Amino acid sequence: MIVVMKVGTPSPEIDRLTGEFEDWGLEPEKIVGSYKVVIGLVGDTAALSVERIQELSPWIESVLRVEAPFTRASREYRQNEPSTIVVPTPNGEVRFGENEPLVTMAGPCSVENEASIVEVAQRVKAAGAQFLRGGAYKPRTSPYSFQGHGEDGLDLLAAAREATGLGIITEVMDAEDIPKIGAVADILQVGARNMQNFSLLKKIGAQPKPVFLKRGMSATIEDWLMAAEYILAAGNPNVILCERGIRTFDRRYTRNTLDLSAIPVLRSLTHLPIAIDPSHGTGWSSLVPSMAKAAIAAGTDVLMLEVHPNPAKALSDGPQSLTPEAFDALMAELAPLAELCGRKMPVPQPV
Ligand code: PEP
Ligand code: MN
Repeated sequence: MIVVMKVGTPSPEIDRLTGEFEDWGLEPEKIVGSYKVVIGLVGDTAALSVERIQELSPWIESVLRVEAPFTRASREYRQNEPSTIVVPTPNGEVRFGENEPLVTMAGPCSVENEASIVEVAQRVKAAGAQFLRGGAYKPRTSPYSFQGHGEDGLDLLAAAREATGLGIITEVMDAEDIPKIGAVADILQVGARNMQNFSLLKKIGAQPKPVFLKRGMSATIEDWLMAAEYILAAGNPNVILCERGIRTFDRRYTRNTLDLSAIPVLRSLTHLPIAIDPSHGTGWSSLVPSMAKAAIAAGTDVLMLEVHPNPAKALSDGPQSLTPEAFDALMAELAPLAELCGRKMPVPQPV
């Protein structure tokens, strides 16, 4: 439930109400918007009547019942104001959200060696990316496939961060690794295969770095928002939702089916920033530019793209990785398109 306070409500009154709700066994959260303060109520609110709450104070403007099961992730919870997630990086802060410039994250599927990760980092930075992606811990279908370089991969990401000042995003597969990954990464990724690993979600929700939550390959939008709710409920408000394709029946021409309709659907349901990953979403580098453009036209806040200096030799996901040259060309096409869609794209930074 959401209790909307009138403009100018004195803060002792808000504190008094918060205390009252706590006495009722609820978890009240004060949310300060640009105009009004609201108190979000999470807990067993089914039996509570709107009138009973309304009677508590003449400063209460209205009481709304959130119908969706994902209370904290719901758009209403923040009075319809989109969240902006601000992430400090050595090159300055990067802001993610509906009212912010488009953010691009690019890099190889897996971190392979120092020369190649630093080269990709420099190339994607020169083309306008603000974040370097790259897996040190890789979720692979086969136990015999390359599993990532683990801690050594983290050191290589740290070297690329040092060389370029780009923010780093990398995947966490095991909650035990959170401290060492958090020491290097600016954003922690939860991969599609772990979207409903609830113990991981609780632990990643209890640490301070923003979380990039990929959609499970057979997750409904509600499953996905409930997964985000786990992270928010554990105390971390900074979640970015990433659509990366869902499993349908074509395995030959596309690896996954990129659900771009998720963008307007999520926009109507949640205040959280939205990302699209056309690389995993299609599986083929030739399809990535069209889907990246379509994602911008549909209103994405973030693009995640796989880029490898030599896709044919990549240790994972080569077929869907762009070369640095293809990435340059794509970024040059995306900037005017983004502008046309009312979205700024940051100017590339000198390397
Ligand atoms: C990745 O980003 O390399 C990855 C494994 O993604 P997903 O979890 O979407 O498959
Ligand atoms: Mn990949």
